[in-house]
Amino acid sequence: MKYDFIIVGGGIVGLATGLNIIEKDPRKKILIIEKESAVAKHQTGNNSGVIHSGLYYKPGSLKAKNCIHGYNLLINFCKEYGVPFDLCGKIVVATDEKEIPLLKNLFERGAQNGLKDFKMLNEAQLKEYEPHVNGVAGFFVPQTGIVDYKVVAEKYADIFIQKGGELKLDEKVDDIRNSSDVTVVTSKSTYESKQLINCAGLYSDKIAKLTTPELNVKIIPFRGEYYKLRKEKEYLVKNLIYPVPDPNFPFLGVHFTRMMKGGVEAGPNAVLAFKREGYKRSDISFRELSETLAWPGFQKVAKKYWRTGLGEMYRSFSKAAFTKALQKLIPEIEEKDLVDGGAGVRAQACDRTGGLVDDFMIIEKPNVINVCNAPSPAATSSLSIGESVAALALKNG
Ligand SMILES: Cc1cc2nc3c(=O)[nH]c(=O)nc-3n(C[C@H](O)[C@H](O)[C@H](O)COP(=O)(O)OP(=O)(O)OC[C@H]3O[C@@H](n4cnc5c(N)ncnc54)[C@H](O)[C@@H]3O)c2cc1C
Repeated sequence: MKYDFIIVGGGIVGLATGLNIIEKDPRKKILIIEKESAVAKHQTGNNSGVIHSGLYYKPGSLKAKNCIHGYNLLINFCKEYGVPFDLCGKIVVATDEKEIPLLKNLFERGAQNGLKDFKMLNEAQLKEYEPHVNGVAGFFVPQTGIVDYKVVAEKYADIFIQKGGELKLDEKVDDIRNSSDVTVVTSKSTYESKQLINCAGLYSDKIAKLTTPELNVKIIPFRGEYYKLRKEKEYLVKNLIYPVPDPNFPFLGVHFTRMMKGGVEAGPNAVLAFKREGYKRSDISFRELSETLAWPGFQKVAKKYWRTGLGEMYRSFSKAAFTKALQKLIPEIEEKDLVDGGAGVRAQACDRTGGLVDDFMIIEKPNVINVCNAPSPAATSSLSIGESVAALALKNG
């Protein structure tokens, strides 16, 4: 049997894409192939669970557009299918006067991206939202929420299957040959399809390379490690508390997040992972690490961010240093209040000339669509990214 579309990757982006296609054209034969025994085992199931409002992203960028549109689609989806979520809002906090200009820039960016009803707060007003926070100024973003993206992804998968889509688990895509049709060779079988859609997250560059040898980006894995607040200290955080991010660094800085499944997480940091799916410090793949180190773009990134990178690495090994970073936001937190909270690994594309690719990146070739950079806020944006990729795919057949 020949498929109309084969999608590689049962993360939230691949599932949202499959769901969008089948909803637009139920006659299409679609197969999603996932190498793990369940969906959402990687980025989708190991993230902060925040429904981002669109605050941070460059106006007009794919991140800004998809986050804002995706936010609305996601909330409607959760309401329609009974997926629990909570629009609890978040505060962004400047912990000293030097951060205030950056805080104001961020506030303006939020306004440019159409956020409403958010206002600057002074020290006393911040404490009305979060009584234990330390800050000289900040603002509250009412739109921000929390959800469990694993639950969302499982729901996308259920509906996709109910509508006639096929999902194969425990099957790894090993090779793809693109001629008049696409041949997909997996660990178990060989399939034919009219088109292939690559949503392979941490391996999206490897999958793309099979049909796009000229690909100019490589995925660099950045692990984000979390601590959890001990139950008896959860009262220190009501909802979500974020620092002012370093505008030169593509991650948001360690923050506090109340989780939909219960508990409060602190993190994630951002350290180079020595293996793409390396969730522990001790996980190393010498082949993957040497590929990262040899990538000219990575060498430039390392030169640019070495100081921040070393600081993050130090915080990864030293719980005392991690605690110190958190104490900037909540001085009452002590090292003994934190227990290990697991980790996620971000798939961040890096181009050959040394830029961490800032925006989402979708590369089209005849018969093939590669989603090559879908880091945060791609979970929030998933239905919007899925809508755009589905439109491209259906336009081609
Ligand atoms: C620490 C962390 C915190 C984050 N916080 C947030 C947040 O709060 N809010 C937000 O919106 N976003 C957040 N994100 C980003 C978000 O999780 C990702 O952008 C999103 O999950 C990407 O989804 P995906 O489907 O592209 O990738 P993934 O979820 O990684 O899915 C890719 C899938 O492809 C499969 N695959 C790979 N290679 C093959 C192969 N050869 N054959 C078959 N299958 C294959 C993998 O097994 C995997 O299941 C965070 C990410 C991390 C890591």
